[in-house]
Amino acid sequence: MERFYTAHNRFDAYLVLHRLQQAGIAAHIFNEHMSSIVGEVPPDVAQPQVWLEDRRDRPRAEAALAALRFDRAQTGSVFCRACKEENPASFELCWHCGANL
Ligand SMILES: [Zn+2]
Repeated sequence: MERFYTAHNRFDAYLVLHRLQQAGIAAHIFNEHMSSIVGEVPPDVAQPQVWLEDRRDRPRAEAALAALRFDRAQTGSVFCRACKEENPASFELCWHCGANL
């Protein structure tokens, strides 16, 4: 396991995770529910983190992350009608609740 990415929030973490999975890279999110203690621990510890299962996937993961950033700049985002979470405009299903977007 190797830490790959420190996210700004859960949405950001899931975006990265989703993109890695699409690329066939095994990854996991840690600290998903730690935001309630932000302020009590250093921010880089409390923020959601994306970890790679296999560090040899890092070059491909970096490429996937670059592609994700490009897409986000191109497409913008939409908000789920069911749960109000933010989703990339390219998603068909809400990352959070699975509702149709
Ligand atoms: Zn939703």
